Amino acid sequence: MTKTRTIIPRALEAILLYKSAKTCCVCRFPRAPIQIHHIDQNPSNNCESNLVVLCTNCHDDAHTTRALSKNLTPARLSQFKLKWEADVLARSSTAMVPSSNLDQAMWTFVNHQRIIPVMNSLGVKFNKAKLDSLISRGVVDKDGIPTFQLPKKSPAYTDQIITIYDRFEWDDSMRLHNLYMDAVDKIILKANPIELGAVWTKTDIRSVVQPGSICFCMRGHMFKRGDVINGEENRLVFARSNNIEIQFHAHTRHMYGNSALYDSFVGSRFTASLIHVKDYAVEAGKLIIRATPISMGAGFVPSAYQTPRPLRYGWAQARKI
Ligand SMILES: [Zn+2]
Repeated sequence: MTKTRTIIPRALEAILLYKSAKTCCVCRFPRAPIQIHHIDQNPSNNCESNLVVLCTNCHDDAHTTRALSKNLTPARLSQFKLKWEADVLARSSTAMVPSSNLDQAMWTFVNHQRIIPVMNSLGVKFNKAKLDSLISRGVVDKDGIPTFQLPKKSPAYTDQIITIYDRFEWDDSMRLHNLYMDAVDKIILKANPIELGAVWTKTDIRSVVQPGSICFCMRGHMFKRGDVINGEENRLVFARSNNIEIQFHAHTRHMYGNSALYDSFVGSRFTASLIHVKDYAVEAGKLIIRATPISMGAGFVPSAYQTPRPLRYGWAQARKI
């Protein structure tokens, strides 16, 4: 029987390569040349569960029944595929958490308005001990929403910025920030954000990222300052290269500490951001991803990951797990 080969759609190929970190799911040898194999050996069956990424050596093995071969039966190949894709997801997400980076990596912007609906949709809860302690101190309500203790100050100068944390005594504001930083890490480990650096081409982004996706982006961000009105400012944030641009607004009320307000999130800075994608737009050949920020972090250093390319698939974590 002749089997007809049907070309694998480009979008499906992008999804497969992303999920497998462009790595053979059997030998997991980094940077080996790879191919996409049809598990049931039917080249017209382009169902995602029938497609597995293999290196050229393992691909040869999958097509042979030699006594010394790896015995890569369809059932075993499906197991290898599922196991490796789950591992890639876990390693990639673990690498996005600041504690995987250098000591100074930290979320210094957490969108208090956005994070609770995101947590609810994912079934993520605040750390119970931290939440209970803050409820008993009157800092947050039972849902973790800040109940401001101090009256809103009027700014002493027109350009002075006042944040949510200024509405508490210093130690309570630190505890509040700690509760929310912890929640961001939990969101990452539950949502398995898409690592934008690994799909930074127009075709790949459109194949892998959808409205509603949660994405992680670690690269240079541009912060365009606005007018400070009543101690608050809405900054327009861009991250762009290769005709791809991420756009969102970051409100200063969610920024923690003076270095966030006046150093980390101004001008052009290397930043990690966790974003919730709203939609796409194409303007003059440029793909624009409009998003809402969940968090932004300062102090992340891509070389700390010791990746072949900055933060691609969290390879540094591969050695730890
Ligand atoms: Zn292999």
